[in-house]
Amino acid sequence: MAKTGYRKKRDFSRTPEPRGKSRKGGRKSGKEPIFVIQKHDASTLHYDFRIEVDGVLKSWAVPKGPSTDPRQKRLAIPTEDHPLDYADFEGVIPEEEYGAGTVLLWDRGTFENITQKDDETVAIAKALQQGHVLVRLHGKKLTGGYALQRTGKGKDAKWLLVKMDDDNADARRNPVSTEPKSVLSGRTIEEIENEDAPEEAAQ
Ligand code: MN
Repeated sequence: MAKTGYRKKRDFSRTPEPRGKSRKGGRKSGKEPIFVIQKHDASTLHYDFRIEVDGVLKSWAVPKGPSTDPRQKRLAIPTEDHPLDYADFEGVIPEEEYGAGTVLLWDRGTFENITQKDDETVAIAKALQQGHVLVRLHGKKLTGGYALQRTGKGKDAKWLLVKMDDDNADARRNPVSTEPKSVLSGRTIEEIENEDAPEEAAQ
């Protein structure tokens, strides 16, 4: 069960994160799959990039966050699958809990799988397995094609998140620093931290 890793790491009597409902086969057919990027001010700041695949959110931690410049290759470290409900999560994970720190919903929207081989679409689960995934994002901050590319093998394997060179590429934009606010609440990470911190931690 793909969610075991996610649930095992968390104590839901302490963290405000969703437990995740079972949604066999994912959401209603015909709906476009979603993506979400959560800015996560944990022990080290990173951006969690998640895409819906077969009823879960496949996830990578991107230390520098996504770029809109095709020349910038951003390291993306795979992390455990998250439940679909996680796409709505913003708040503070208490100290001593897994991932302790503040989560801000930095961008969200739908995506299209545009991975192709020999002029045919490669199913996204297969593309992931093969370590080469192309998606077209329809977010509020990020739009257009992004490539997720696995390089290296075995324990040296790593992924890179790179903007595709299309009409939405823009080397001058730097949304990670110029558009820091939540697309859900309009808040900054400091505001979320101050407003959502559990009472006992707010000293
Ligand atoms: Mn994270």
